[in-house]
Amino acid sequence: MLSGEFGIMYSLRISTLFVAVSALLSGTRAQDFGYDGHNGPQHWGEQYDTCFGKHQSPININLLSVKEVKLPPLKMEGFDEQIEGLVVANNGHTVMIKVENHEPPKISDGPLVGEYVFSQLHFHWGNNDSVGSEDRINNKSFPMELHIVFYKKEYGDPKGALEHSDGLAVMAFFYEVDRHRHPAYDLVTAALQNVTEPQSAMPLARSLSLLALLPYDLEHYFTYSGSLTTPPCSEVVTWIDYEQPIRLAHDQINSFRELRSDHGHITHNFRPLQPIGDRTIFYNTERDGYFDKSTDVVRKPIVPQESTSTPRSDKSASSHIKITLGLIAIAVCLSFLIN
Ligand SMILES: [Zn+2]
Repeated sequence: MLSGEFGIMYSLRISTLFVAVSALLSGTRAQDFGYDGHNGPQHWGEQYDTCFGKHQSPININLLSVKEVKLPPLKMEGFDEQIEGLVVANNGHTVMIKVENHEPPKISDGPLVGEYVFSQLHFHWGNNDSVGSEDRINNKSFPMELHIVFYKKEYGDPKGALEHSDGLAVMAFFYEVDRHRHPAYDLVTAALQNVTEPQSAMPLARSLSLLALLPYDLEHYFTYSGSLTTPPCSEVVTWIDYEQPIRLAHDQINSFRELRSDHGHITHNFRPLQPIGDRTIFYNTERDGYFDKSTDVVRKPIVPQESTSTPRSDKSASSHIKITLGLIAIAVCLSFLIN
């Protein structure tokens, strides 16, 4: 029977999906951390030493103490491709989107050495629109933050990458509330309704490109060395925090708060700020200067000498004299003719 075959195929597909999602979740979960009480961030370090480390995330980015740099352009591959079969999964801490059966997007250059492969993207949010982002800018919180997680290709997979200080790169984006809905996010928020329960997953209804989720300006960003913001808090992340926020309608942000963990609604899932310590935060801008990846030192290039051609003001002065002399000559000729 066709319907029987379809039923078997469907259940196979669901079970394959379940195995895939379980694998995805087991890699990042395996612990019962939370954001309140005895499971809260203050206690993560009791089980995971690194959470008490000196280079933890998130941090506050103080605009007065960032170091301006002009990095090589960050190369983004596969961001504009329509990806079929993206899977949305609620792991009880956040909602993740993962690529299945498709070449994953990649990033390289910018502050990175080597190639980094897309692993998953997920979100952090707060109880209301005044809090929710993990990093802050000048102590300002945003209602939500997107983390697109990549692992360094040469380390094989995200788990292997956790063993290396340059193992992961995360592109982070802040959200802001807007009067208008963001059309690409309607697809994501519609999918959330199917994964409200913890440990549930569903494929997205349509294909989607990563680029559709991002803001216009991908040139201005802050970058620093930090950690995972959830246990085991491994200090292996090159953070790339974009300056321009993504704008969503309030109810689009609100639909994330409908997701559930084993203990009720996931109303907030952001870690408190961590000390910056001896770290430098770099700000990538158009200004000249470049960043020495091996020493974290910003170097200014030698500015070429000013051109020796006649400056504009001198030129205009000399043409002014020429015009004056011409007028005097005409006046003299005219006076001869009249006399
Ligand atoms: Zn995150």
